[in-house]
Amino acid sequence: MSSSRIYLDYNASAPLLPAARTAMIAALDVTGNPSSVHADGRQARAIVERARESVAAFANAKPSEVVFTSGATEANAWPINGGWTTVFVSGTEHPSVLTAITAAKLRMVAVPVTRDGVMTPDALTAAIASAGETGRSLLSVQVANNETGVIQDVAALADIAHEAGMFVHSDAVQAADRLDLDFNALGADFVSLSAHKMGGPKGIGALIIRDGLNLLPLMAGGGQERRRRGGTENVAGIAGFGAAADAARSTLDNAAAMAARRDALEHDAALRLKGTVVIGGGAPRICNTSCMAVPGLTSEAIVIKLDLAGVSVSAGSACSSGKVGASHVLAAMGLAPEIAGGAIRVSIGSATTDEEIAAFLNAWSALAPRVVKAA
Ligand code: PMP
Repeated sequence: MSSSRIYLDYNASAPLLPAARTAMIAALDVTGNPSSVHADGRQARAIVERARESVAAFANAKPSEVVFTSGATEANAWPINGGWTTVFVSGTEHPSVLTAITAAKLRMVAVPVTRDGVMTPDALTAAIASAGETGRSLLSVQVANNETGVIQDVAALADIAHEAGMFVHSDAVQAADRLDLDFNALGADFVSLSAHKMGGPKGIGALIIRDGLNLLPLMAGGGQERRRRGGTENVAGIAGFGAAADAARSTLDNAAAMAARRDALEHDAALRLKGTVVIGGGAPRICNTSCMAVPGLTSEAIVIKLDLAGVSVSAGSACSSGKVGASHVLAAMGLAPEIAGGAIRVSIGSATTDEEIAAFLNAWSALAPRVVKAA
């Protein structure tokens, strides 16, 4: 990333932490395969197991509950392919959850969310009651949304689902290092994480599986990860993930400062851009995310023009960038197309400065009239 650019897209990917880079470079020079019994293999194994302890400590899980995957897309697809008949979700889940359900041809029950994007315990109870015979069922509900930052009360929802005999998966990707993630307090049976949203490298993640639960491997193979996920481990990626997990505890200390910076941004945006709507603003949100829309402005145009001005933000989900179309998250929240179509996501990190926020606001306000005219 060039230092002259202003990067406000941490939810798409956060910068690699220096400690993660150092750990990865050291791991790249370890030749052994972690499955080999000789000293070289044991050296690689030690890196993997140390990182597993770090990720477990970060999420308040046991090391035996952490299985490394290629990222959260795999960590989401795996529990969904766990042999269910029905999966209950909110319509605001990440595409990796929703498409995994359709690809597996499972029955999907979309539990309605409020206008702020929250799945309430009452809505889940009602959906379970009206779903009829569901067979073996899973609830998949994210901790925090990638587009709006809206937080779900996973613990309360998990209680209801468990009571109904269901299992619970939670995508905690956007919550990692932005709120105190506690696997036990969350109450889910399966939790997905992705390293690159918390200062680790891309292409590595984990599924935390509650001890005692048996999930058939999505990828069979050489019996790695205690026979749960085949394939030689991505040792350097895992080392970077472990280092990021160690650092995440200290990043959390900045959560209040980040929330204050985000709130100030929304306050100033409302003063400068008439009709600014803060999407999900009435619900609890993670500290770093702001999804805002100005009627009459289109997201794509704003993102492209801000890019030319040296500012990186997203329109809707970065995972589908390049694709023009309304965000399914905002549609599930019942937002009018003219608001949803102008939504941009600003997501900051602990290194984001007030100057960067001010420069973004200047750039956004400056192009607003031109975009309005062009629309
Ligand atoms: N879930 C959420 C909420 C995400 O934001 C993302 C990344 N955009 C993913 C899952 C997928 O993670 P990965 O990039 O590690 O496959």
